[in-house]
Amino acid sequence: MSDTIKPNKVATVNYTGSYLDGVVFDSSEGKEPLSFLVGKGQMISGFEQELMGAKIGEKREFTLTPDKAYGERDENAIQKMEKGQFPDDMNLEVGMIVGAQSDQGPIQFSIVDIDGEMVTVDFNHQMAGMTLRFNVEVVNVRDATSEEILHGHAHGKGGINH
Ligand code: ZN
Repeated sequence: MSDTIKPNKVATVNYTGSYLDGVVFDSSEGKEPLSFLVGKGQMISGFEQELMGAKIGEKREFTLTPDKAYGERDENAIQKMEKGQFPDDMNLEVGMIVGAQSDQGPIQFSIVDIDGEMVTVDFNHQMAGMTLRFNVEVVNVRDATSEEILHGHAHGKGGINH
């Protein structure tokens, strides 16, 4: 078992992600461990960097600044839209997360304000600007299959099944 985490390996991990105040935002506890293909951008960049070289059974704890996680908040990503640009049957509410299709693929944004016919939306990732702490335990490391490398993600347990 000398496999270590490096590009083109599939890593399976248990993890807990928390904010600096200790509030947990995501965890594999009580769920399947997460599998991901290393080096294909399946995970945020810092998460992979901090796990490079880790062996099965190894535990690592690290803190990621926004540039290594979901990026800094961009004030230009806050934009105004008219209510008419949304589907008629959509019940717009402040705090709502809306998924949409763009030329670049699926995007999501949140509604931060509604003022008459004007809706203010925020295209920043919900976790942009945040420093995140992770606690990770490596459960397994294996070679990726050629199909996984072609698809750019891990298959099977804890990965994408299709
Ligand atoms: Zn696939």
